[in-house]
Amino acid sequence: MDFDLTPEEQAFEREVERFLAENRSPEVMDPNPEQLSQTVDTPPKRAFMRKLAERGWLGMSWPGEYGGGELSGIYDFILTEALSRHGAPQPGKGVGIVGKTIIRHGSDKLKSEFLPRIARGEIEFAIGYSEPQAGSDAAAMALRATRDPKGGGWRLNGRKIWTTSAHFADWYWLGARTDPDSKHGGITLFLLRLDVPGLTILPTYTIGDERTNEVFFDDVFVSDDYVVGQVNRGWGYICEALDLERFAMMPIGPLEEKARALFDYLREERRDGQPLRREPRVRSAAAQIATQLRVAQLLQRRVIGEALKDRVPSIESSMYKLYMNELGQRVANWALDLMGAEGQLKPGAEGAPVGGRFERSYRYTVVDTIGGGTSEIQKNIIANRGLGLPRSY
Ligand SMILES: Cc1cc2nc3c(=O)[nH]c(=O)nc-3n(C[C@H](O)[C@H](O)[C@H](O)COP(=O)(O)OP(=O)(O)OC[C@H]3O[C@@H](n4cnc5c(N)ncnc54)[C@H](O)[C@@H]3O)c2cc1C
Repeated sequence: MDFDLTPEEQAFEREVERFLAENRSPEVMDPNPEQLSQTVDTPPKRAFMRKLAERGWLGMSWPGEYGGGELSGIYDFILTEALSRHGAPQPGKGVGIVGKTIIRHGSDKLKSEFLPRIARGEIEFAIGYSEPQAGSDAAAMALRATRDPKGGGWRLNGRKIWTTSAHFADWYWLGARTDPDSKHGGITLFLLRLDVPGLTILPTYTIGDERTNEVFFDDVFVSDDYVVGQVNRGWGYICEALDLERFAMMPIGPLEEKARALFDYLREERRDGQPLRREPRVRSAAAQIATQLRVAQLLQRRVIGEALKDRVPSIESSMYKLYMNELGQRVANWALDLMGAEGQLKPGAEGAPVGGRFERSYRYTVVDTIGGGTSEIQKNIIANRGLGLPRSY
């Protein structure tokens, strides 16, 4: 399966590239982008999101009645890939997960309150599914939501972990247990302001220097108005949102950029007076990276191809995520091998090759194999759904 962009889509890609060239800024763009590193955590990045909104690029694939552009999801994909290549923040969670789920299942109040603000780039979300005992098995979430005795809403008690963005986002999109007697049928989705009383947000720093968060709930009130869809149907919405989001998840741009930076380094660098590029093992590693990158690009195209046919690309997505994440680790590993001892110098250190990019990448790519579903879980999906082998869990 392969596809080419239509002339209109190619024109859009050029327009996005032009926009990014005109709006290039070190305050907004990470010069060494990694897979998940492009968050909207500062005022200049928020201003950048509003510029995307002014162009009509937030909600391009939403229906027109909600302010959307009614375009194919391929436009979201083109935009996300371009932003990720340039290390710019991406609109993923608000437009994709929250916006599309509210459009399908939200009340009129949620639609009128949230959709225009998402489309204007005014609002940021954190996603809270994971808990200490609920990661790969997210449906095991136990954060308890019970009816408030005074009526009109719910009281939340418990703990989430790994909530990326909770320390700067405006709203929390989270699952909580409303029926302890049913695992998948006992979860409800809520929207909650992140500055409400009873919420404590503490940092967790990953091996890749990224901040994520642990969030404690102490009798936090949430009104019935902010229940998303129906009570106890949350698990279905969470799974659906993941399917809807496949266009915008896991861009390959950061990996392509890292490979390009490594090839440039290998072309230019000299060791013991000799060009590094003359060493057979350097050329061998470069050829393998170029070939494997092409495999990853083709796997990504299969994901998009399936999604464009309105099919759920679950096996294709798992193959792509598994292969791309592990390739990211191999590229970082090769880079550090070829750079020698200097490769271990951190970003910013004097003499660090390629600005220390691969030292960071070596650490960061471990995180990629966990977030959004671990490599082991992807292998389970491929073995079970793709090959018909027995489930391991
Ligand atoms: C940087 C980062 C950001 C994140 N951001 C968010 C966020 O914003 N919101 C959110 O809700 N979550 C977030 N997560 C959580 C992420 O989704 C989970 O970490 C991930 O799903 C794995 O869950 P876990 O950490 O509990 O590991 P576990 O599920 O406990 O797994 C531990 C190990 O066991 C393996 N394992 C588990 N089950 C099986 C099985 N059935 N078969 C074989 N091996 C298995 C796993 O592969 C892993 O190696 C984030 C995680 C990270 C690292």
